[in-house]
Amino acid sequence: MSIAYQLSFVRSTLPEDVTLVAVSKTHPVEAIREAYDAGHRIFGESRPQELREKYEVLPKDIEWHMIGHLQTNKVKYIAPFVTLIHSVDSARLAETIQREAAKCGRTIEILLEVRVAEEETKSGWEMDELMHYLGSAPFALMPNVCVRGLMGIATNTDDGEAVRRDFQVLKRNFDTLQPNFGPRFNILSMGMSHDYPIAVECGSTMVRVGSLIFGERDYTK
Ligand SMILES: *Cc1c(COP(=O)(O)O)cnc(C)c1O
Repeated sequence: MSIAYQLSFVRSTLPEDVTLVAVSKTHPVEAIREAYDAGHRIFGESRPQELREKYEVLPKDIEWHMIGHLQTNKVKYIAPFVTLIHSVDSARLAETIQREAAKCGRTIEILLEVRVAEEETKSGWEMDELMHYLGSAPFALMPNVCVRGLMGIATNTDDGEAVRRDFQVLKRNFDTLQPNFGPRFNILSMGMSHDYPIAVECGSTMVRVGSLIFGERDYTK
């Protein structure tokens, strides 16, 4: 099936108010161009240099989202143009984004990544750490960072009920944190190719779908 077809299929399964991020990591610019020509404008990548290279050669009305783990020393590659960073999982990273955004004279929108999955390998804040951090009011002291919401990844399992529980925890955490931030805090990024329908049922406002649109990724290339 063509990328354009898959894209319109995924779109047709989503409520209108859920944003679709097409995750193009590892796929060539020609694949992104095909989705772009089909009208899509929001793409997600997980490596800063790859994101930068694609940004440079593709049309400038694309919204680029950084969805993967981000090292502080790589923020500078994407700070001048990135639309949304989904994967802010530490105080150091938030503070680095503030610094780099200030250098570029822009405000960078971010999501706080909260850990809910059972796998130890998954990154993200523990909720109690995050609450503690917010208690010291750090984002009020970061004029170039705008916290738009939360991101999370469910446990990687075929057990739909376990996945649903993870998404429900994320939604609860989102509702708990919202009063700290106000109306701009309105993005809950959860759901990938294999679990996004459950995420949407649990209140996701933004899904990150890769393989279902672009096909399987080949990490050996
Ligand atoms: C790769 C990735 C996705 C997309 O995964 P698919 O299973 O291909 O849809 C979504 N979110 C994050 C954080 C990713 O790293």
